[in-house]
Amino acid sequence: MPSSPAAARPEDWDRALQTASPAEVIAAALEVAGREQLALVSSFGTESAALLKVMADVDPAIPVLFLDTGWMFDETLAYRDELIRTLGLRDVRTVRPASASLAAHDPDADRWSSDPDTCCRIRKVEPLAQALAPFCAWINGRKRFQGGSRAAIPVVEQEDGRLKFNPFANVTSDDIQLIYASADLPPHPLVASGFASVGCMPCTSRTLPGEDPRAGRWRGRGKTECGIHKPAG
Ligand code: SF4
Repeated sequence: MPSSPAAARPEDWDRALQTASPAEVIAAALEVAGREQLALVSSFGTESAALLKVMADVDPAIPVLFLDTGWMFDETLAYRDELIRTLGLRDVRTVRPASASLAAHDPDADRWSSDPDTCCRIRKVEPLAQALAPFCAWINGRKRFQGGSRAAIPVVEQEDGRLKFNPFANVTSDDIQLIYASADLPPHPLVASGFASVGCMPCTSRTLPGEDPRAGRWRGRGKTECGIHKPAG
């Protein structure tokens, strides 16, 4: 571990945590930032319970930010509430887009169809940037096995002047399933009906057997990320 957390560079933490477990990465994030300055961002999607379980075992009072874009499935909102109860999460904060921004840029609520990048910007990227302003570090659940721009993510990086911890960078899909099984975590309600990855309702579709789990996100739109994560490097 870097000797002085406050002064440590992200690359020092990344080097120190290369082989650390997800719990050790979250504990290190807590050490470097402190609970008041650290947030975990969760979509309460199909794999989210695994990271939230690891976090809850380290400290269930770490603030959790959930982006409610206005286009969430009812099942996702219900899953959020179920996981708060079952994992004992003490500080889940729901973040919503600014009504003035919606009125200015998406008055007919159809921007997801005509211009999904702008829709993601006003419903996800900008609200999250505002919600993260009080924090100096955050945790998210991206994994390298998801491929694409996630294939080379470090364990610790810096983005917009803020430390960003990726405790699941090294985990496999089997590791995730093992966490679900060993903790008897409830699945997202839409998994049973064929959704391998769940985001906003208009931009999420079922996946076929053998398809990449994220193939149902923005299907046919040539878009794979919403923009809240900048490409590694
Ligand atoms: S995922 Fe779709 S509905 Fe959600 S913010 Fe992005 S474009 Fe809009």
